[in-house]
Amino acid sequence: MAYLRSIDHPYQGTAQPYCFYCGATINYPAIHRVGSTGAITLHSNCAVDLSIKIMADVNHMQNDTNRRIRM
Ligand SMILES: [Zn+2]
Repeated sequence: MAYLRSIDHPYQGTAQPYCFYCGATINYPAIHRVGSTGAITLHSNCAVDLSIKIMADVNHMQNDTNRRIRM
């Protein structure tokens, strides 16, 4: 949804004080995503690490199910 440049941002109400991935206090700039059931805030390096793990999970699932999730 956005990256947050400082504590003073339009997502103030949903930004989390701790990183979703590592649990350490959020500092800025940070990555912020709002989903249908909640919001996550991450350090930029943690967003990279988590996105790589998510893509690896999708790749494994594609291999296990022998089908592509998207063409
Ligand atoms: Zn983190």
